[in-house]
Amino acid sequence: MKIAMIGTGYVGLVSGVCFSDFGHEVVCVDKDPRKIDMLNRGEVPIYEPGLEDLLAKNVAAGRLTFTLDLAQAVADADAVFIAVGTPTRRGDGHADLTYVMAAAEEIAQAAKDYVVIVTKSTVPVGTNRQVQQVVAKANPGLDFDVASNPEFLREGAAIDDFMKPDRVVVGVQSDRAAEVMSDIYRPLYLRDFPIVITDLESAEMIKYAANAFLATKITFINEIAALCEKVGADIKQVSKGMGMDNRIGNKFLHAGPGYGGSCFPKDTRALARMGQDHAVPMQITETVIKVNDETKRRMVDKLLDMCDGSFNGKTITILGVTFKPNTDDMRDAPSLTIIPSLVGGGARVHVVDPQGRHEGEALLPGVTWNDDPYDAARNADLLVILTEWNEFRALDLTRLAGSMAKARLADLRNIYTAQDARRAGFEAYDSIGRKQLG
Ligand code: NAD
Repeated sequence: MKIAMIGTGYVGLVSGVCFSDFGHEVVCVDKDPRKIDMLNRGEVPIYEPGLEDLLAKNVAAGRLTFTLDLAQAVADADAVFIAVGTPTRRGDGHADLTYVMAAAEEIAQAAKDYVVIVTKSTVPVGTNRQVQQVVAKANPGLDFDVASNPEFLREGAAIDDFMKPDRVVVGVQSDRAAEVMSDIYRPLYLRDFPIVITDLESAEMIKYAANAFLATKITFINEIAALCEKVGADIKQVSKGMGMDNRIGNKFLHAGPGYGGSCFPKDTRALARMGQDHAVPMQITETVIKVNDETKRRMVDKLLDMCDGSFNGKTITILGVTFKPNTDDMRDAPSLTIIPSLVGGGARVHVVDPQGRHEGEALLPGVTWNDDPYDAARNADLLVILTEWNEFRALDLTRLAGSMAKARLADLRNIYTAQDARRAGFEAYDSIGRKQLG
């Protein structure tokens, strides 16, 4: 199979590399010359564990190339995947389809023979039919099908998720397109990973429903955690006891500072918008968005309490700014709400993140970047764990407490316990949904 992948972001690049590893001939296209230059030098523009090696292997095998030239990549492709961004449109919460439609038009102009145009980007229900119209209008003689193939990979575990998916969802409206898609995913199908074939609209809806459901689960446990703090229950025990019920499951039941990232915030907003457009308000999703915003603000109140009611003149050290570990992605990260409140309140903020600095420097003005948690925490009044990178899971708490001006720890990912903190000499410890110390 010859595949063109339009967009070399987190989804496009991982999908392109993995498809080439399946044995397909893949050309990855981006319009950002910096990214294509890097890729052609064998460098990966994003941080994703394992991606650089897999890319090198498939480039060396001659199955994977990178180009700025969309027309050339599309000309003899059997399938063209659109994996461009669909951020929130300014002002109304709708998914911005500008990049998808621009790509569809370019593909239409370049395609010659029968081709399946596959939308991998997360797009509102009805978008694939719109793509179909745009292509038909731009190139009336073209023999083509559209297909919806939403992606479920998680940044930080993207290759494994792509290679061992819970399921692959493919929305089509012709047997011919279903056959091409089945050929592309055959290596997974042969290893018993299920492929769910649906109509276009259902495939588009599955992605939003799945993401909104996961965001709901996280937000639910965060809300229960807030109540645990008031009534003296321990959210870790509560999550464990709930999660052992197979009907509930233990995933996405970890209380934290609120969800962020490139998908949940924008996809919940887009689903809410879709509901409003069709006069079927997505009330649960709308509430989830509101509660998640409040959760992030609640974190600021928590930190304020630990700073005796004022950030002014305090030195605060933050461990982790990316929205989760093992990624450099900062999009909608809780740190972008929390840290500006500290800086705005007059705190001196020191930040450590294994991969976040590159993106974070522009997004978090007024902070000092450090490489080492121990250097960053020296003489600080408060230490905050915001992202649970492995690097922060086995810190020498005694050393940290001993070097701080005020030994106070806000563990917003619940990776330590009040007992750990007390033993290490911390005078105050607070986490999410558990008893405080001090
Ligand atoms: P991204 O912003 O990292 O990458 C998009 C890329 O597309 C950019 O490199 C951009 O330069 C390129 N691009 C835009 N228009 C182009 C064009 N006309 N021709 C060539 N290149 C073009 O985005 P992402 O995080 O990879 O997300 C892509 C889509 O996948 C979104 O719809 C997102 O919701 C969805 N998704 C993302 C994830 C994730 O974890 N990031 C997971 C599942 C689904």
